[in-house]
Amino acid sequence: MNDMSTPGLDTLSAVPFYQPVGNECELFEYAFRKRLPLLIKGPTGCGKTRFVAHMAARLARPLITVACHDDLTAADLVGRHLIGDGQTVWSDGPLTRAVREGGICYLDEIVEARKDTTVVLHPLTDDRRILPIERTGEELQAPDDFMLVVSYNPGYQNLLKSLKPSTRQRFVAISFDFPPAALEEKIVIAETGVSPLVARQLVNLAGHLRQLKDHDLEEAASTRLLVYAASLVQAGCDPVAACEAALVESLTDDKDTAEALLEVIKATF
Ligand code: ADP
Repeated sequence: MNDMSTPGLDTLSAVPFYQPVGNECELFEYAFRKRLPLLIKGPTGCGKTRFVAHMAARLARPLITVACHDDLTAADLVGRHLIGDGQTVWSDGPLTRAVREGGICYLDEIVEARKDTTVVLHPLTDDRRILPIERTGEELQAPDDFMLVVSYNPGYQNLLKSLKPSTRQRFVAISFDFPPAALEEKIVIAETGVSPLVARQLVNLAGHLRQLKDHDLEEAASTRLLVYAASLVQAGCDPVAACEAALVESLTDDKDTAEALLEVIKATF
C-alpha cells in the first residue's frame, strides 16, 4: 500500500493556533455549512495545512489528511480488499472513512495525484455528494458534515501538472500567500516564543529573500522556515547560524546563491 499521512481522528483535541489573514475562516464556515468543497491555493509553508486543522477543530469535525503523490491511486483514497487469514476483507481508504464518519477530508497537493484519482472526487463534489465504491457495489451518500478540502501550490504548476478545469470548477477557491509582515511577526512569536525584535528581524529578512525568489530560488522563504529559524534562536542558537541552517540550506544547493543569501542574512543581524 502507498505511504499516506492519515492521522487518526482527533475530534476533541484543542483548536490549533491559526492567525487569520483575511476572511478565510468565515469563508470556510460558509462553505462547510453549504456543503461546498473548498480549494486552497498557495505556496508551500504559508499556513494552508494549519488553517484546515484549525477549522476542523473549530467545527469539531474529524480531520483526515492525505499527502498526495504521483503514485496515489483511486484505490488509495477509496479503499481496497485486503487478504488476511485466508479471507478477503474490505478496508476503507481515507476518503471513504471521512464520508462514512462525516469528517473533513484534506487532500494536500492534489495536483500530484494521478489524473484518474481526481475523477473519483467528481460525484462527491457536485450536488449529488455520493461516493460510488465499485469494488463493493456501495454508493455512499455523504452526510451533511462531510467536507472535501484540497490544496495545491500554483508555483509548481506546469502544463502536465495542473488541475483539469472540469475538476477545478467544482470547488470554491481561496488564494493564500505569506502573511503581511505584522501578522507574520505575530505568528513567529506565537509559534516559538521568540522576542518581538528577533521576530521582526526574521520577517524583514524573509521580505528581502522573497524578492530574490524569481531570480535564484525555486521557492520563496516560507513562514514555516521562519518558524524553524526562530525555534533555533529560541533554543539559544546564534541567529546567523540559525538562518543558515533553516533558510539557506533548505532553499538552495547552489553555492553562489547560498553565499548571496548569507550576505543578506549577515546584513540583517
Ligand atoms: P502549508 O500547508 O501551506 O505548506 P503549513 O500550514 O504547514 O503550510 O504552515 C507551516 C507552518 O507555518 C505552520 O506549522 C505554522 O507554524 C506556521 N504558520 C503559517 N501560517 C500560519 C498562520 N496563519 N497561523 C499560524 N501559524 C502559521
